[in-house]
Amino acid sequence: MFNNESAHRLIHLTLYIQTDTLKQEHTGLTMSHLPREIEHILNLSNKNEQVDLIELAHIQHENHSLPLYALNIGAKDPTLPCLVLTGSIHGVERIGSQIILAFIKSLMRRIQWDKELQRLLTRIQLIAIPVVNPWGVALKKRANHNGVDLMRNAPVNATNPAMQLYAGQTISSKLPWFRGNPDNMEKELTHTSNYLLNVSRSASSTIVLDLHSGFGTKDRLWFPFAHHKKPPDNIEQYYLLYRLFRMSYPHYELYQFEPQWHQYTTHGDFWDWQYLQHFEQSSHHFLPLTLELGSWLWVKKNPMQLLSFSQLFHPTKPHRIKRVQRRHSTLLNYLMQVLDNRILETIDNKEQLTDKALKLWYP
Ligand SMILES: [Zn+2]
Repeated sequence: MFNNESAHRLIHLTLYIQTDTLKQEHTGLTMSHLPREIEHILNLSNKNEQVDLIELAHIQHENHSLPLYALNIGAKDPTLPCLVLTGSIHGVERIGSQIILAFIKSLMRRIQWDKELQRLLTRIQLIAIPVVNPWGVALKKRANHNGVDLMRNAPVNATNPAMQLYAGQTISSKLPWFRGNPDNMEKELTHTSNYLLNVSRSASSTIVLDLHSGFGTKDRLWFPFAHHKKPPDNIEQYYLLYRLFRMSYPHYELYQFEPQWHQYTTHGDFWDWQYLQHFEQSSHHFLPLTLELGSWLWVKKNPMQLLSFSQLFHPTKPHRIKRVQRRHSTLLNYLMQVLDNRILETIDNKEQLTDKALKLWYP
């Protein structure tokens, strides 16, 4: 089957190999500057006393190291509901980091006068890890500095693996979608995982929004699973999230909301793994979501971007960056409201919602 999606992936693969070969020669890079997004993280925490900076780890590469930072905003009581935002697990998808950072910056401006927001941030926790793959960002690579694709590296195997490379491969770190060693996850992931499991096991409910940008013309919101085609146990909560958003923002036709396997199944999906880990030890509500921005939306408008690999995943024109940032703030605010209103904790028509979810997504 050679559909649009496969065509996109073939182009992706070709570009990946070309640019990665080029980049190998430059890996003795002079890191006189931190990636811009990491500077923004530091600025946000320096300028706002409400933003706590937590250093999860230092990621070493050659003779340099880059920090893995989390930002902690809002309530300090770990049992309160929590929204987690993560970005740049794939280093070339920096737009995700920038959406998160612009959102926090806007919150910090609003909190100076908006009493409702001040109250909201005493009732929920907001945690961000804007740059999960600092070396990927610095080197302008999808993978990390070891060539490992951090979304294929978790110890979860697809039950019906696609033969395509993009399902995750163990052939070579020179090819994309390299799994690395799933039994010994990369440092970025072990630190992110441990930190977030601590959070999700204490918080009454946690929603994670992991921001990516890829091929396609639609913005998609994916929920587990990526490694098999069965529904998650809390499918009614995902259905409710989807339905309330559609109901509340009827003119906002942006997201295709679906389980990730509708697009493809993969090995090593980090959020599948995090989901399984969480529910092994906790019954608290936990809903990881992946926002996959359809980058063709901006590539179509600026075909010159096809000439540069990293720009394929990141809009280059300032007005387009602003538009992408603005477009998703509704969703981020919505997720905070869902948590604050304890919507997921008070479902009384679980069977009915499950039924509808199964009809919609698992016919
Ligand atoms: Zn991605």
